[in-house]
Amino acid sequence: MMQQFSGSVEVVCGPMFSGKTEELIRRVKRAQIAKQRVQIFKPAMDTRYAEEEVVSHSSQAMKAEPVEGSVDILMRLKDSTRVVAIDEIQFFDDKIVSVVTKLAARGCRVICAGLDLDYRAQPFGQMPQLLAIADEVTKIHAVCTVCGSHAVRSQRLTKSKEQVLLGETDAYEARCRGHYQLDEVEEQALLPLEEEKRRATEQLSH
Ligand code: ADP
Ligand code: MG
Repeated sequence: MMQQFSGSVEVVCGPMFSGKTEELIRRVKRAQIAKQRVQIFKPAMDTRYAEEEVVSHSSQAMKAEPVEGSVDILMRLKDSTRVVAIDEIQFFDDKIVSVVTKLAARGCRVICAGLDLDYRAQPFGQMPQLLAIADEVTKIHAVCTVCGSHAVRSQRLTKSKEQVLLGETDAYEARCRGHYQLDEVEEQALLPLEEEKRRATEQLSH
């Protein structure tokens, strides 16, 4: 008999607060209603709210298995698992693309949720590759904290330059293109310096 092949890759992406985790939870719940075995994974480093749960900003939560590396997902996979959901997928190492591909090849429906862009509005980690290999991509928006329109970017409110900055829930805000500003914090601090530079160049040109 021919084996029924149902593997697929879905990616849900967008900025912080766009509802990626909520959407992941929604899809998982429906799979469970359909009596499909689900395993949820998250990077072990993401301990913002809970060690063994995925938690949304609206406090929805579901049990999840924290894993150190992407290969651990394959090692922990149970034979009966039909649906694999992975949250904060942008934090995984570069093997994640081949891991996701292998899961789909085994017949799993893989639901990936993660940030498309980092705080500098640059593609985050392996997301470009994941988006390319996905069967289905869903981009969702948050609400801009300044004007209320579609927010597509995550504004960092602190000076830190690390790509990954965890544990500070008020370190970010969702912003639209117009109200997002890279180095907003520094630019404010640099204003007097810029003014000095401008004056110096003005004097030189006289
Ligand atoms: P993500 O996983 O994309 O960061 P979550 O699923 O954790 O998003 O949270 C989405 C929820 O966050 C929304 O349903 C809403 O209750 C809340 N929220 C807080 N701030 C905002 C915002 N600026 N835009 C949209 N939702 C927000
Ligand atoms: Mg989330």
